[in-house]
Amino acid sequence: MNKFIIILLLSFSFLFASELIITKEGQIFDDFLIEMYEDTTASLTLDETKDKTFVPISNSISTGYSNSYYWYKFKLQNQTEKSLKYIFESTEHLTHEMDFTIISKGEKRVTYEKGIGRYNKEGVVETTKLNFPIYLKKGEQKEIYIRHFSLYPNYTSFHIRDESSFNEYTLKHDRFLSLYFGAVLALILYNLFIFFYSRDSTYLLYVLYVTSFITWQMSMNGFPPFDTSSSIFRAYMLGSSVPFFIAFLLLFSRRILETEKLFPKIDQAIRYVAYLYFILAICSWFDSHTTFVIINALGTFLLPFLLYIGFKSYLCGNKIALFYLIAQTTFLATTTMLSLMADGYLEYNIVTRHGIVVGSFLEILLFSLALAYRLRLLEDEKIGLMCQSKEELTKLIDERTKALTEANKELEHLSVTDRLTSIANRLGLDNVFEYELHKFERYESNHFGVILIDIDYFKKINDMNGHQVGDNVLQEFAKILKENLRNSDTVGRWGGEEFLIICPNTQREGVLTIAETLREKIEAHNFKEVGNLTASFGVSMMQMGDTKLSFFKRVDDALYEAKQTGRNKVVFLK
Ligand code: GH3
Ligand code: MG
Ligand code: MG
Repeated sequence: MNKFIIILLLSFSFLFASELIITKEGQIFDDFLIEMYEDTTASLTLDETKDKTFVPISNSISTGYSNSYYWYKFKLQNQTEKSLKYIFESTEHLTHEMDFTIISKGEKRVTYEKGIGRYNKEGVVETTKLNFPIYLKKGEQKEIYIRHFSLYPNYTSFHIRDESSFNEYTLKHDRFLSLYFGAVLALILYNLFIFFYSRDSTYLLYVLYVTSFITWQMSMNGFPPFDTSSSIFRAYMLGSSVPFFIAFLLLFSRRILETEKLFPKIDQAIRYVAYLYFILAICSWFDSHTTFVIINALGTFLLPFLLYIGFKSYLCGNKIALFYLIAQTTFLATTTMLSLMADGYLEYNIVTRHGIVVGSFLEILLFSLALAYRLRLLEDEKIGLMCQSKEELTKLIDERTKALTEANKELEHLSVTDRLTSIANRLGLDNVFEYELHKFERYESNHFGVILIDIDYFKKINDMNGHQVGDNVLQEFAKILKENLRNSDTVGRWGGEEFLIICPNTQREGVLTIAETLREKIEAHNFKEVGNLTASFGVSMMQMGDTKLSFFKRVDDALYEAKQTGRNKVVFLK
């Protein structure tokens, strides 16, 4: 509605040309017409300008980048009954030069010179706040001329308020900004702590990115410590904070979007552009105007490009990229508005000028959330890896235990097995014998007998055919014994060409039958390399009062007797 009235007034501007009249105390001027003259030579003085043709325009100005002097004029009249103090404010602090001349009746002039392009001898800007007092006696009218020159984009809004409403407005504005900067500082600290804790430089890049952004915003809004008495260095911080902000944003984006892994070529390009911005940041200290124009132009392509990469990264399965996309879209929308306004394409108003505050805050917050989410993903990944390695370890231990158990079994088997014949060895036989003896001693009815076998004239076999053939015969012999025994019987090699059979739970007749059967089998067997051979058998039964020694003596005696009495026979001794 207000804008409509202004357009209407513009049509009749020659009638109303910016004569502001205060009719009651506390009256404020937020929407009004002001007259403007552009001095493209940027050289005219106030007196040379006075006769030029001024055009009425709105009090919200956005004329883009320009090297011209912009002259504004208006008249202010006090029609109240009191003397008044009014404040004229230009809302943007980033102006190189702003001269404010008040002309009273009789050509009496007062001039204030402000702007960050003006330093005193110590190189300190007296003040960056562009507000000027206008004192008006009852009925008095003053004519005001403003010369505005800036290398930054020319956008601002003029307001004329009485002192108390000016203070009230400033307080509200500063409170809002304090809240904003406070919240952002909290996020900076939070992520700085995470950086110290995790040593993950992504968090540091985020901190540097937000810090440069906030430096930009604080200086742009004339917020402490960038409000008054700013040193040259502080004034120049603004020029470099934007390129620094973009450079760190690029480096931070690389990490969040995992470009190094997903798109190595693009990643390299992003890195080089970031380095270019670091160089631009340094250049801005020498020629802020040119670098500002380059930064602005490049930025127009850069942010949509980052959005595109964000989208690609998301498609590649990077979940964090979704946070990034939402954050960047919000930011891009508000930054584009600011850029278009700064270039003079959009009107200067609260949305185009301060939308970035909301957009940037959402972005900073969402990036912080993305980082928190990333922390969780990394933690999950770590736990996953730990579980995996634990599983692998358990599996390995199981495998090794199994192998060890098998090796032990094998070892145990080998320790009681004869290497040549694969039947029990002396130790194996001893174990079985001890066991049977123990059973016999406990349960007397548990009869068992033993057969001792010795191959007849074995020496001859060796002598005639060689030791190797002797060995083969021993193997074949053992095989015959094994194949002709019950499972419950144990056969083993007693030593040399002597074999021993233990027959548990067997009566004398049974043992004798086994011995006789074996003797016949051997006698009948045709040994592969040596043909026929025989063996002698000594047999005895375990009896009450026997010791191992006395028992084996008897078995030995039986065998001896078999040998002595013609061989190839079974002898039983009681
Ligand atoms: P007999 O028992 O009938 O009185 O005659 P023998 O020729 O078998 O006599 P003796 O028991 O004294 O000789 C056994 C021979 O068995 C002596 C040794 O050379 C041979 N011998 C012992 N252990 C092995 C062995 O592991 N391999 C081979 N090839 N020969 C062995
Ligand atoms: Mg012998
Ligand atoms: Mg022998």
